[in-house]
Amino acid sequence: MLPISRPATPPLDGPVFGKAAAAAAAASTSAIAPPPPSTPIYAGSIESQLRAVLQSIDVDSCEANGENAFFVADLAEVYRQHVRWMRELPRVVPFYAVKCNPDPYVLRLLAALGSGFDCASNGEIQSVLDLGVSPTRIIYANPCKASSFVRTAAAQGVGMATFDNADELTKMARFHPRCKLVVRILTDDSKSACQLGLKFGAPLDSVPRLLARAKELCLDVVGVSFHVGSGCYDPDSFRDAVLRARRAFDMGREAGFEFDLLDVGGGYAHDNFESIAAVLRPAIDAYFPDAEFAPGGSAVQHSPHGLRIIAEPGRYYVQKAFVLAANIIARRDGRKDDAEGVVEHSTAAPALPSAEDKPEVMYYQNDGMYGAFNCILFDHQSVHPKVLTLGHDFLYEPSLPAPGVRAAAPSASAAQRRALTLQPCSVWGPTCDSIDCVRALAHLPRGLEVSDWLVYEDMGAYTICAASGFNGLQQSQVRYTIGAEGRDADAVAALLGAPQY
Ligand SMILES: *Cc1c(COP(=O)(O)O)cnc(C)c1O
Repeated sequence: MLPISRPATPPLDGPVFGKAAAAAAAASTSAIAPPPPSTPIYAGSIESQLRAVLQSIDVDSCEANGENAFFVADLAEVYRQHVRWMRELPRVVPFYAVKCNPDPYVLRLLAALGSGFDCASNGEIQSVLDLGVSPTRIIYANPCKASSFVRTAAAQGVGMATFDNADELTKMARFHPRCKLVVRILTDDSKSACQLGLKFGAPLDSVPRLLARAKELCLDVVGVSFHVGSGCYDPDSFRDAVLRARRAFDMGREAGFEFDLLDVGGGYAHDNFESIAAVLRPAIDAYFPDAEFAPGGSAVQHSPHGLRIIAEPGRYYVQKAFVLAANIIARRDGRKDDAEGVVEHSTAAPALPSAEDKPEVMYYQNDGMYGAFNCILFDHQSVHPKVLTLGHDFLYEPSLPAPGVRAAAPSASAAQRRALTLQPCSVWGPTCDSIDCVRALAHLPRGLEVSDWLVYEDMGAYTICAASGFNGLQQSQVRYTIGAEGRDADAVAALLGAPQY
């Protein structure tokens, strides 16, 4: 990984971002408010942090909430995602979608890295401004905004926003007439886990009418945005979306605008980022060719910087950076014969049960669907528990796939073998509602006991931010680390401007 010792300057210049904004970004470590002193940041791998927290908890004697589920956030992972972004899409400036995970340290780190921010509400705008980030680094990317939020954004100098309907134009003309507007177009979101087109996006054939209305209202439309849907699994959606954006640029020209901003939205994930980038780069080159869109190009004659390209990644940045550890607070045997159901396996690997795959035992853990696992409902995720402790021994090895246990050693006793044998089970959250099921069927080792711990990886996106306190339960807190010892952790420490840990 490239060490980044200084915050990167956003490679953008122009009226929206401005020289002052670039200068502020270059000095952004000092421009960013210090973290609340009450939230420490540790150093070391996620595994070492899990171990440290578990060592500090005595489930048999702790106060109420002492054994609560908790996240570990590895900020070096966010940093690596940024380096990866800059390597694959150097032309595209990321505006982190705050809604995905508005964690204060994630925001601080991304601010120090020179990222912009996609905010969808007054609250999100305030949390970014509170860091000392210039309002010129914010896009208010909600096409349907409350009027009071628009007035506040105008007063605070947030000067770029999206729209997709005529009523929003009327609102903007009334409350923020000098805002640079970006028309959000409808694209094909059918190849994504969370489709957004039902709610947002102007169909291409409505764009000329919207742009004519914007002209009548003397509004300044500067470009086009889209979102292919969150959790997009078909990179080709991006090619089609860029083509449609180009069509919208042509409509802009016909309506008397000179667009110079292309916003390629969100939808990127950890696993498919390179394949999306490999589609996006040539699509941009093909549909926005340099002859027309480079500085001095025929389509951007009044924009000295040529076409500017931004994106609004959310999930991509945080998905893998957070894991969640949950304590098994209760257990209920589902089958009578379980007590004497000692199954001997001669194979070394933990064997899957051969009997019908019905849960034999129910585990109840202390975070669920009303908390961090709301992602099952809202974000259409399925989660995979891994064993963190088994019979109170710390077993976690991040490289093992779920359920994360190794085969019993040849020398293992019959009891040890039994403990490691996988058993069909269900995993439930702590509330009194039966919708609160984390996993209807999983295979976990028989030896799991009440007060053992499970761990869930990839819990950074669309989890904490939508957790509730239903049933009087506390939300899971975050333990932060700058990451395992090395250059990435050093870079994170320098970027956060907190040399002591
Ligand atoms: C949610 C959202 C994003 C982020 O989407 P991801 O799939 O998390 O990258 C970006 N832009 C807008 C307008 C959004 O609503």
